[in-house]
Amino acid sequence: MSVRVFRDADASLAHIEGEPVSIIGYGSQGRAQALNLRDSGVDLIIGNREDDFAAAARDDGFEVLSMADAATRARIVLFLVPDEIQAQVFEQAIHPGLEPGNMIVFAHGFALRYGLIDAPEDIDVALLAPRMPGAYLRQRYIAGKGVPAYVDVASDVTGLAWQRLLALAKGIGATRAGTLAVSFRDETELDLFSEHFTFPLIFRALEIAFEELVAAGYPPEVAIMELHGSGELGEVLEEAGRVGLYEMLERRASPAGRYGVLRHREAALDEQTTRQRARKALERIRNGSFARELVSDGGAGYPELGRLTELARHLPLSRAELAFNSLFHLDDGSGW
Ligand code: NAD
Ligand code: MG
Repeated sequence: MSVRVFRDADASLAHIEGEPVSIIGYGSQGRAQALNLRDSGVDLIIGNREDDFAAAARDDGFEVLSMADAATRARIVLFLVPDEIQAQVFEQAIHPGLEPGNMIVFAHGFALRYGLIDAPEDIDVALLAPRMPGAYLRQRYIAGKGVPAYVDVASDVTGLAWQRLLALAKGIGATRAGTLAVSFRDETELDLFSEHFTFPLIFRALEIAFEELVAAGYPPEVAIMELHGSGELGEVLEEAGRVGLYEMLERRASPAGRYGVLRHREAALDEQTTRQRARKALERIRNGSFARELVSDGGAGYPELGRLTELARHLPLSRAELAFNSLFHLDDGSGW
């Protein structure tokens, strides 16, 4: 194993000093990266269409231009709009503003991995992919910490791409936590794998557990509290990320807890089926069939995403969570 890790000492903001930086898109990643970079002393312009995100950027004190004007003004463009619409936005608004020696930075390798974007050959193309949603990237930065990120350079025409990329990684706080050199292909496939296999498995297990507990007569609010509402699951998984799953168990759980988990882990799911699902998920990612499906849904205005979102909203679990949240006032709506 020889993954290269970059830390604060390996990066210097001096490499982007005086280089105009534009952030295109002010959503989850755009807002967090913009706020972190500004606090790190980087001058920024936001490029956005006129929508609520543009208004939020102005509220946060940024100058907001059209995407095309912001791209023209910049030497470094952080391209932070949803993956499945990047090709279209790139051709219309970004490409015309790029000049030789400019740099475009993606937060996910999707458009590059699936060949959706044909970047000009005379610019630097890079990946800076934080491993968490923007809200956590911002929260941790404010707390003096960082979120790990993957970095890659797909094209280095200036010979400065790595230095500029690591400067940006430092500016968003990622080198505080450790920034890993990972190819944009691997980053794309691994990110999608978490979304197609690991998260659904956990979510569905919680859903089924909830329904069975309620059917067995436990109050729904108490079932939610027990499953993920107390925050215990989040805390223990957070620690497991630092020390290891079973090491965390050894450190934190009572003998009864350890005995119970270790006794039942093997029977918790059907191994053959689960392995097949993992392989199938990877296959659909690698052969591009998921990417085609997503791009087609995005192009049509997300009918399928809309349908699936509605379905999830009406699950017994989701309805019980709403009641649970209002009972305990857990969601203060601040978002950050
Ligand atoms: P988002 O959905 O929060 O982006 C919203 C932004 O995109 C807004 O500024 C909006 O104005 C703009 N936008 C949306 N549709 C548009 C359209 N049709 N034309 C022009 N602008 C449009 O996006 P995000 O989640 O921040 O993702 C941005 C990038 O960051 C993606 O490449 C994503 O894979 C990557 N990323 C996201 C996360 C995450 O957890 N959200 C984590 C790591 C990387
Ligand atoms: Mg993703």
